[in-house]
Amino acid sequence: MRKRTGVQFRKSRKTAHTFERIQACKRCHTYHVLWDTHCEDCGRAYTPIRQLSSKVTRRYVQTRFLLLGLFICLAVLSADTLLQLSLAFGIGALLVVLFFVIQKKYGSYEKDAQFLRFLTAEQEAIKKSLLRHLEEIGADVKEERIKDAYEKTREIGHFIQSDTIKIRKIMFLNHYVLRKDMELELDTLVPQTYDKDFMEYLREVVKVQPWLVKKAVLDYVNRYKAQILLLENGEQLIGQVAGAALRMKTYVEQYQELIIEFIDYLPRERLLRLAKMARTHRHEGWERLYEAAKKRVDTHYAFDPDFKGVM
Ligand SMILES: [Zn+2]
Repeated sequence: MRKRTGVQFRKSRKTAHTFERIQACKRCHTYHVLWDTHCEDCGRAYTPIRQLSSKVTRRYVQTRFLLLGLFICLAVLSADTLLQLSLAFGIGALLVVLFFVIQKKYGSYEKDAQFLRFLTAEQEAIKKSLLRHLEEIGADVKEERIKDAYEKTREIGHFIQSDTIKIRKIMFLNHYVLRKDMELELDTLVPQTYDKDFMEYLREVVKVQPWLVKKAVLDYVNRYKAQILLLENGEQLIGQVAGAALRMKTYVEQYQELIIEFIDYLPRERLLRLAKMARTHRHEGWERLYEAAKKRVDTHYAFDPDFKGVM
């Protein structure tokens, strides 16, 4: 196993929508999803993509207003009698009011629809920019700037959810000592197929942030149990993952078989938790869990004061 080093990753931005991560350089017509604030080619400040799109929408609305005005003017000019003139004015005014009301009521909806159209139209340009970022990452790896490579891949991972991206991130992360205070990811890294590097990563994560173990990871471990058992200390690894599942009652129920199978490898403190939970829910379909926990406690922790009277 390679030697891990310490690291401090930059904080990742939190956004409600993925698209909010996209910034545009209006001068070069390029996009950017990393943390830079200014275009590296021309130096111009980036504009958030949504802002760019609303400008387009505003232009549409203005054009429509203009056309409406023009139409009213024409009607007024071509009126021959007073009646026609007042009709032209009246209908014109009515149309303007109607237009205002509609714009007010459905303006935000139109903005969203327009934004979607805008995104679709800009798809190719955005893709090109992502590819450019990927090339930068390639260069970072060559120069052994692994921290930069990871941080960039993490940002791109918001847009591309492929196994290649996941496995790259895992390989980068495996260079570092993982800590409790780090902003780590786990669910987002679960690959489609069995991956040894992912297991190496999981082994470290579960030690420092067991709360990251959720359904996706538990399913993965369940699915690739046979392969994991071939790893050095594979049983212990599954035991730790099963131990992390004890955080939630629903997980215990859903992954009961896995927990029972690897009960001998549960860390002591996890077994204690399981014993207490199993006692509480003993008559709610947890009989087998209770029996398994009791057997393990009786054979290995019979004289441990913490376990006294638990089962
Ligand atoms: Zn630029």
